Amino acid sequence: MEQTAPVAAAEQPLIRKKPLIISGPCSAETEQQTIETCTRLAATGKVDMLRAGIWKPRTKPGLFEGIGTKGLPWLKKAKDLTGLPITVEVATAKHVEDCLAFDVDVLWIGARTTVNPFSVQEVADALRGVDIPVLIKNPINPDLELWMGGVERIAKAGIKNIGLIHRGFSNYGNTEYRNAPMWHLPIEMKRRLPDMPLICDPSHIGGRRDVLQSLAQKSIDLDFDGLMIESHIDPDNAWSDAKQQVTPERLAELLDSLVWRQETT
Ligand code: PEP
Ligand code: MN
Repeated sequence: MEQTAPVAAAEQPLIRKKPLIISGPCSAETEQQTIETCTRLAATGKVDMLRAGIWKPRTKPGLFEGIGTKGLPWLKKAKDLTGLPITVEVATAKHVEDCLAFDVDVLWIGARTTVNPFSVQEVADALRGVDIPVLIKNPINPDLELWMGGVERIAKAGIKNIGLIHRGFSNYGNTEYRNAPMWHLPIEMKRRLPDMPLICDPSHIGGRRDVLQSLAQKSIDLDFDGLMIESHIDPDNAWSDAKQQVTPERLAELLDSLVWRQETT
């Protein structure tokens, strides 16, 4: 199929540092949890950007669906305290509007949004005329054209700084990983979009903390450009994705254990 190559990301320090390390809780839960996670991450000196889910796309109703807009001032405070940029998942035009109102530096589109062209288009329309980097996770199903389509919709809205996040692909039943890595798919995306940063999210691929290190190392060996790893001050009691989160200090150890390729910036 013929591809319309989107505009490649221009020079943009925020998402173009290599390796780019993004960390923070799956979900912002309370002000104290958000600020403490972020300040402890900053204290490690190993993290370039802070993340937190504000609106959470849960598979079933009745689970914690995110603290909502009231969590954005907590993240803004974390940004002011640490001097680190912040990134938040957006799935609707209102999410985009709220993030922009609270100085969110980078937006990301989640796997359950990339899968839906109506939603990606709504986000893209809300971004028209806005200059902000956007990271686009792969869709939950292994459909490269859908991932490309998401990138094209955001690029067509005029966003120049786009990056890709590989978070694995849904599968059924008991499998080694929560989401199958299918490494050849992100590698094919990188072949098609060589100038776009490609970040690995071993937290959502693995679904459990004991595999984070090996998945992260594998992505480095494959020349990925960075990592997004979830962290929490009390991982076992996290309100979402408890099994895969690590403390900020454990994250620092994990990062220290990785063998990086030479040509980092
Ligand atoms: C997340 O990053 O917390 C998240 C919901 O991820 P994904 O879209 O990859 O499931
Ligand atoms: Mn999560």
